[in-house]
Amino acid sequence: MINVTKTFLPPQEEYNAILKRAWDTGWMTNRGVLVKELEQKLQNYLKSRPLIAMTNGTLPLQIAIKALGLNGEIITTPFSYVATTSSIVWEGCTPVFVDIHPEYLTIDETQIEAAITDKTSAILATHVFGNPCEVEAIDKIAKKHSLKVIYDAAHCFGVEYKGQSIFNFGDVSTCSFHATKLFHTGEGGALFCNDDRYKQMYLHHNFGHDGEDVFEGIGINAKMSEPQSAMGLSVLKYQKKIIDDRKRITENYGSHFCNFKSIQIICLRPGTDWNYSYYPIIFKTEELLLKVKDRLNSQQIYPRRYFYPSLNLMGYVNDFKCPISESIAKRILCLPLYYNLKEKDQNNISAIIKKAIND
Ligand SMILES: *Cc1c(COP(=O)(O)O)cnc(C)c1O
Repeated sequence: MINVTKTFLPPQEEYNAILKRAWDTGWMTNRGVLVKELEQKLQNYLKSRPLIAMTNGTLPLQIAIKALGLNGEIITTPFSYVATTSSIVWEGCTPVFVDIHPEYLTIDETQIEAAITDKTSAILATHVFGNPCEVEAIDKIAKKHSLKVIYDAAHCFGVEYKGQSIFNFGDVSTCSFHATKLFHTGEGGALFCNDDRYKQMYLHHNFGHDGEDVFEGIGINAKMSEPQSAMGLSVLKYQKKIIDDRKRITENYGSHFCNFKSIQIICLRPGTDWNYSYYPIIFKTEELLLKVKDRLNSQQIYPRRYFYPSLNLMGYVNDFKCPISESIAKRILCLPLYYNLKEKDQNNISAIIKKAIND
């Protein structure tokens, strides 16, 4: 069976050896030795601003919305994983959807200003599939209208844009370390922000504890545990190797699809040093996608419809029309892409797809 992804697992004895260090201290959470070491190593690896490791990639979004004091309307993208939208609604704010760019698939920054009202407090955009938003234009709009900017950078582990970590942009950037993501801790995630906001975010992720008996405002529990951190430390050692292998796989898919007119592939924003996080292909029609998906499924190959449906169609949001996002969400399919995916399997996947299209 071939799934859209396969979690990279390090040799178990390496994981055990790291976990033993926590075992020896008797601490399994509450900011033990491993989580601190992981944060340091991640910051060095990514060459980013400071980060706080958290228990998943959704809580950093909610904490950012809460800690930045956002209310009213938040301008956001309809083309992302559901957590981007649900976090806004969960925090009592109203998502206002702006359609996406048809090739980059990120929020169309040229339509943001028209969506701003006197209730708008922020922009929450996703660097979808690790493809950066037009961060400079968004920053300019935000400054002009005194809005905060949060980037859902769940797919962006290791992405650089114009020579620096993509996690350095926005008031806050978040990442997911879920087992299906490029770098993982089983469940996990992180929040990246500048020094001046670090303490506020830190307090929010640990109940507002400012010392044992002192509480500084409201907080929640988003702490990453020691077993999660041990997984992260043992995976991180292999990260360069993982990315190199994904590059090989991506280039091989490219050799099949770059000049294949019936399929649109992702267009990366110039200036992006990418991480090969996903391999989405866009069909001319949804019927064609469903036909291809059925054929692949019948051979035990399971690509995924990332991201479907378009988030402006969720039952708990107001009515917005986002024709580009709605159309792409119906026609996009992410192909299997994971460490050590065999070239022979990839060639087979590509052949099945082409045959289904031409039949
Ligand atoms: C995976 C993902 C999240 C949520 O991360 P979890 O670690 O699963 O909580 C948020 N946003 C996007 C775009 C994602 O793909």
